[in-house]
Order: sequence, then C-alpha cells, then structure tokens
Amino acid sequence: MSNFTAADGRHIAAADRAHVFHSWSAQDNIAPLPVSHGEGATFYDYDGNPYLDFSSQLVNLNLGHQHPRLVKSIQDQAAKLATIQPSFANDVRSELARLITDAAPGDLSHVFFTNGGADANEHAVRMARLHTGRRKIMSAYRSYHGATATAISLTGDPRRWQNEPSDSSVVHFLGPYAYRSPFWSETPEQEAERALEHLENQIVLEGAGTIAAIIMETVVGTNGILVPPPGYLAGVRELCDKYGILYIADEVMAGFGRTGTIFAVEHFEVAPDLITFAKGVNSGYVPLGGVVISSSIVDTFRTRPYPGGLTYSGHPLACAAGVETFKVFEDEQILERTRDLGQRVVRPRLEAMAQKHACVGDVRGLGLFWAIELVKDKTTREPLVPFNPSPEDNQPMVGFTAACKKAGLWPFTHFNRVHVAPPLVISEEDLIRGLDIIDAALDDLDRYVAQPATLETVSVGA
Ligand code: PLP
Repeated sequence: MSNFTAADGRHIAAADRAHVFHSWSAQDNIAPLPVSHGEGATFYDYDGNPYLDFSSQLVNLNLGHQHPRLVKSIQDQAAKLATIQPSFANDVRSELARLITDAAPGDLSHVFFTNGGADANEHAVRMARLHTGRRKIMSAYRSYHGATATAISLTGDPRRWQNEPSDSSVVHFLGPYAYRSPFWSETPEQEAERALEHLENQIVLEGAGTIAAIIMETVVGTNGILVPPPGYLAGVRELCDKYGILYIADEVMAGFGRTGTIFAVEHFEVAPDLITFAKGVNSGYVPLGGVVISSSIVDTFRTRPYPGGLTYSGHPLACAAGVETFKVFEDEQILERTRDLGQRVVRPRLEAMAQKHACVGDVRGLGLFWAIELVKDKTTREPLVPFNPSPEDNQPMVGFTAACKKAGLWPFTHFNRVHVAPPLVISEEDLIRGLDIIDAALDDLDRYVAQPATLETVSVGA
C-alpha cells in the first residue's frame, strides 16, 4: 500500500513518545513500532516491512488482521445500532450469549459480558464469593489473570509483585509443570497425582470452608503453555465438589479456538462452574470479555440483585463481531484446521528443532498454542535466561527477537521461552516460513549453551 510513508511512521512514533503512556513499561526504554496496516497473519510498518504475526498480537487475533467478515459485521452493526446500554435486550448480545452457552460444557447457561479478560475474572470471583458466602480464592503460580485489583492478586507471576499488597484472601499453589516438576515426578501421571495431592493438602490447611473458588488457566498461556497432564483437571473438579468449592476456568487466552476447540476444557472433559473468556471471542476487533455462568450460580441471583455492572457490558459492535466469529469458525472450519496444523505441521517441526538445537529443552502445546523452552544445558535444564530476567540477563532473548524481526517474523517470547501462537487463519505456507525463521534464529542461541545438541528424547506435553 503506497499511501503509507516512512515520514508518516516517524511522525506517529514521535507523537506516541510525546503523549502515549504504555503498559508495563519504563517509558524511556521503549520504541513502539508504528504499524500501518495488516492483513490475515501479517502486519506492516511504515517502511513497508511485513511481519508475520506469530503472537496474534496479544494472542487475541485468532481470525487474523482485517478479516473482511468481521469488519463488515461491525460496519453493519454501527449503521444499525452503534450502542445500547446493558439493561436493554439486544439482538446480537442475545445471539452471542446463546452461541457461547451452546458451546459451553455442563450446565453453563448464561453470560455476563465484560470489556475484557481482567474484569471477567473480577466478576467471576465476585459471583463465586456471593454464591458460596466464602471469601478465599486459590490460584496457581505461573499464571496471569489480568491487571485490575483482584485479577492481579490472582496472578501468579512477577507482574503481581509491584502491585502488592494485593487481595489478602488469595492463596497461590503450584500447578503441574512436567518439564520442571515441583513434585519430583517422572511421568505425567505422577505429576497429575502429586499436584492434586499438593492442592488437597493446601485446601485442607487453608480451611476448605473458607475457600470460594479455585481459578486456573485451562492451558497456562503467557507463563509457559503448560498443558495439564491427563487427569489433573478432572481431579481439580473432584476436589472442588468434595469441598464445596467453585471451579473457575480462565480461558481468556486458551479459549475460542486457540487449542483447536471453542473451550480448552473440552480436551479434558471437565465442566467448570464459571468460565471466563475475552480475546478470541471476536479477535479483539472491539473489546469484549465475559463470564459463562452455571445455572446454579444464576439461581443465586434470581431474586437477589447481582451487585456489578459495566456501561459497555455486551456492547453491540463487540457482540456483532462475536456472532460473526462463530459463523466464520464454522464456514472456514477454523477448529479443524487449527487441530490439523498443530498436529501435522507444528508438533513435528518443533520436535525436530528440539533434536537439532542444543538450546531447546522442551516443546509442548495444543492446537496453535505452543512453547519452545530454551535451556543452557539439556541435562541440568538450567534455563537459557533466568526467571524474570534483568535486561542484562535477557540479552540472548533480545538477540533472538531481533533476528526474527529482521527476517520478517514478530515472535512471542517470555523469559526463556518462545511461543508459537499465530492467527488460526495462517496459511500452511506462512506457518512453515515462520517456523523456518525461528529455526534459523535458534542457531545463534545454540552458542549460549554448554554442550552440543544430543539426540536425547525431548519431553513433549499432552
Ligand atoms: N487471563 C488470561 C489467561 C490472560 O492471558 C489475560 C491477558 O493476557 C487476561 C486474563 C487479562 O485479559 P485482559 O488483558 O483483556 O484484561
């Protein structure tokens, strides 16, 4: 597109630096790339450089940039009724709630719409507390649940630290992580069993009768694409039932096709009491999130008012794009292609990288949601860069990211991991090209490792 100039890009960058305050950043240490436009799995800067988007922005852009049907659904809705406040009934809002509850497991019957993922978790927790009359919430270390007050308290990663003191009635526990088992397990079955034993001990010691809910990402996202071992989530469900605790599944990142099913819990055949979602529900074209609620929790609020709401709850522009998302999923067989590309293209290619590269310790994932875990030494599994690395420690990952960008790929990296999470509409050709770029960039990282690559078997998640 020739109407974007490099001079425009410089002007936008300067105005950004002068006036835009960015998330999670020391403002002087960042140089946000001005983006001119995007299409499908690719976006472009003002110098005309293309970037294959292997992080789907923030793992929300499941249907890619500028999907014509999503764009049109928003345009049509804007022409018809651009906004209507939540206390009215609205066609696209009702229809999206119907589609979501139809797709959800168990007796999840209603949807409370929010503006995004953090507020969905805020409301899920609020519902759980009011429904059970208990206060405490248990959540896992190595998790992210959002940046608002309760959601950041639930979060089990360093983003919480600077926000403390946080909600004192949140208790963190260790979830399963087969590659770095906190329970000295040697098999996924052992990991599931021991992680459940740990969780039950903690429930008992915290006082089961004080715990309203356990919240977990079904597949842990930013903190490592941790696919739960077989039986773990079913075990969590059983513990919740045993102690009268609600089970909240955070599917903000893992939901809406990312793992090859609408809800990731489908892989594990469990029905939570509450599911939170956002991101992929409409690929983030208009902010939207929500809580899918079981009928027994809805019953709590049949004659007693629910004390919460948002001006933009169920915004028609966002819901119209959500309804269209379901139709596109169906018409373009998005779930089927996600499962197919994940198994047939990504899994074998990452396994081959693990064989080839001395710096690759583990690869794991589901659908188009994968992690490559980088190590200094395959035997000791010492991470290539430490947990929560300082800028100096992070140099190898900075180098890796720069090499990818130079080759036309926008990667997702976090600590010592590279995640592979492209839009679900990516062509097979682009997917392979992106994996080629990662493979080549890993060559450079191999020089950070202590030993040459061996042909030892890598451990691969479920
Ligand atoms: N939960 C999970 C698992 C997430 O990955 C995120 C965001 O990345 C959130 C919650 C928060 O969502 P939002 O940024 O829309 O508030």
